[in-house]
Amino acid sequence: MSVFSLSSLSARIGWLGASVSIAMLALAVLLIDASARMKTSLDWVSQTEQLIQKIDETMADLREAESGQRGFLLTRDTSYARSFDYRTVEATNDTAALVALTRDNPAQHDRAVGLQRIAARKIASLRIPLSLGQSGHFDEAIAIVANGHGRDLMDDVARRAERLRQSERDLLSVRLYAAQQQSSWNRQLPLIGGPAIIALLAMAVTLIIRGVRRPTRSILHSMHAFGDGDRDARVTDTIGTSEFRALAEAYNEMADRLAVAGSLQSISDADLQRANSELRRNADTLQARSEMIELLGGMSHRMQTARTDGELAAVIQCFVPRVLPAIPGALYAHNHSRNLLVRLASWGDLTLTQEAFSPEQCWGLRRGQGHCVVAPGTDVVCAHVDDPSAVYHCEPLLAGGEVIGLLYLEGVVEAESRFRLAVLTENIASALLNHQLQRGLREQTIRDPLTALFNRRYMEEALAIEIARASRTGEPLGLAMCDIDHFKRFNDELGHDAGVVVLRAVATEMTRHFRDGDVVCRYGGEEFTIIAPGAMLPALVERVERLRMAVAETSVRHGDRSLGAIRMSFGIAAWYPEMERNGSTLIQLADNALYRAKRGGRDRVVVADQPPTLSIAAE
Ligand code: GH3
Ligand code: MG
Ligand code: MG
Repeated sequence: MSVFSLSSLSARIGWLGASVSIAMLALAVLLIDASARMKTSLDWVSQTEQLIQKIDETMADLREAESGQRGFLLTRDTSYARSFDYRTVEATNDTAALVALTRDNPAQHDRAVGLQRIAARKIASLRIPLSLGQSGHFDEAIAIVANGHGRDLMDDVARRAERLRQSERDLLSVRLYAAQQQSSWNRQLPLIGGPAIIALLAMAVTLIIRGVRRPTRSILHSMHAFGDGDRDARVTDTIGTSEFRALAEAYNEMADRLAVAGSLQSISDADLQRANSELRRNADTLQARSEMIELLGGMSHRMQTARTDGELAAVIQCFVPRVLPAIPGALYAHNHSRNLLVRLASWGDLTLTQEAFSPEQCWGLRRGQGHCVVAPGTDVVCAHVDDPSAVYHCEPLLAGGEVIGLLYLEGVVEAESRFRLAVLTENIASALLNHQLQRGLREQTIRDPLTALFNRRYMEEALAIEIARASRTGEPLGLAMCDIDHFKRFNDELGHDAGVVVLRAVATEMTRHFRDGDVVCRYGGEEFTIIAPGAMLPALVERVERLRMAVAETSVRHGDRSLGAIRMSFGIAAWYPEMERNGSTLIQLADNALYRAKRGGRDRVVVADQPPTLSIAAE
C-alpha cells in the first residue's frame, strides 16, 4: 500500500527498481543457499555411501584375511600368508577411514572407533595362529583356530559393522529425504520467485503507466481544448504524481498567462484596428481636404485674376458646386451705394431667394455671422428668403472686419462640410475684396473723383473705340459737349463748395438721362461730354434737350440756401463715315456748336454743321 503514498513518479520508478532488485537479490540468495544446501545434502549422501562401502570393504578384508590364514594353515602355502598380510593392512586402513569419515557424527564416530578396535583385535587374533604356522607349529595354530574364539570375535565385528551400517543407512535415508526436499525447493524457488517478481514488476509498471497515462491524457486534453480556442481550458483533474502535478500547475499558469496575453492581444488588435481605421479615415479626410484645398486654390487663383464681375461670377458658378456638391446657392455683393446686396452669381436649382435685397433683410448680415435654418421652424427666416419653411444657410463674407458680400446656400451644410464652407467663404471674400479693390483702382484712373463721371482721358479712349466700331458697323454715333452757363457766378457768389454741389447735381442728372452704353464724362471744369453710340442724331438731340430741361428744373441746395436754377448749353455733333477717324474732329465740331449756343444766348442745344442728311435729321 505504500505505493499509493508515493506521490512522485521518480520515487515510484525508484521504488520499483529497488523492489525488483531486492526481490531478484533475495531470489539469487535463496537460489545460492538452496544450491549450497543441495550440495551439502549430496555430500552427506556421498559420505554415507562411502562409509557403507568402507564398512563392507572392512568386513570383506577381514574375511579374506581369515580365509588366507586358514588357507596357509591348511595348505601351508605362503601365498595365503601374503594375502593375509595384504588384507589385514587393507582392513586396518578401512577402519581408520571409517573413523575419519564419522568424525562429524559423535555417535557414529564412537561406533566406528569400536569397530576399529574390535577389528584390530580380530586381526591380532588371526595373526597369532598364522605366526605359529609360519614358525612351523601348525598343529598348535590349528588348535587355536579350532577353539572357536576367532568366530565369536568375527561375529562381534560383523554385529558392530552392521550397527554402524544400519545407523548410516538410517542417516542416508534421512539425508536423501532432506536432499529431495532441498531439490524440490530448489525447483520451486525460481518457479515461485520468478512469477512473483514478474507480478511485482507488472503491478509497479501498471501503477506507473496509470500514473503517467491519466495525467498525460488530462493535460493533453486541456492543451488541445486551449489550442482549439477554449481560453478557459485548464487541468482540473487530481493529478497523481508530483511531477505531473507540477506539469499541470505549470501548464495552467502558462494557459493563464496566454489567456491574459491573448485578451491583451485582442484588445491591442482591436485598438490597432481602431487606430488603423481612424488613420485611414484621417488619411481619407486629409486626402479629401488636400483635393479640396487644391480645388479651392485653383478657384482662388482664377478669382484673383478675374477682371470683371462676369468673369468672377463664372469662376464661382463653376467651382462652388464642386466644393459643396448638391447645394444650390448664390453670391451677393454690395452695390455701389452699398444699400443693396445684388446677386453676382448663382448655381444649382436656386428658387427661394431674391435677386437683390437690403442688408437689413438678412439675419446673417445683421448679426455678422453665419445664419443657418437646418429645419423649418428651428430659427427665424431672413426676409430675402421667399419660403418661410426654407432650409438654408447665409454666410456673410467678411474682409478687414467689414461685410463685403453674402454667400447664400439653399440646404443644410453638414458638419463635415463646414471646413469647406469656411475656406470657401474666406477665399471668396478675399477674391471679392481684391476684385472690388482692383475695380476701385481702375475706376480711380478712369473716373473723375469729384463727380464720379468718366474722366477726359477715358472719354478720349472710349471715343476712339466707338468711332472705330461705328465705322466698322455703320451704326450712328453722337457726341454732345455740355457747359454750365455762368458757372463762375456760383463760385463767386456762393463759394467754391457751392460750385462743387452744382457740378455733382449736374453729373447726377446726366447719368440719369443716359443709358449704360453711353459714356458720360467730365471734360474739365464745368464742361462735360456725352458719347452716345448707336443713337440717331434726332434722338440724341431730344434726350439732351430733356437733360437741359431737367437740369434747369433741378433745385440744388447748399447748406440752408437754394442755389437757384442751373442752366446749361449743349453742342451736338454726329459722326459720319466721311469724317476723319479722329475723335478730336468730332469734339471740335460739337465744341463749335456749343460755342454757337453760348453766343446764341446760352441755355440751349445747338447741333453742329453736318452733312445734309444728318442736319435734316436733326431738324
Ligand atoms: P460761361 O457761361 O461763358 O460758360 O460762363 P462761365 O462762368 O461758366 O465760364 P468761365 O469759363 O468763365 O468760368 C468757368 C469757371 O468755372 C472758372 C472756374 O473758376 C470754375 N471752375 C472750373 N472748374 C471748377 C471746379 O472744379 N470747381 C469749381 N467750384 N469751379 C470750377
Ligand atoms: Mg466753360
Ligand atoms: Mg460755363
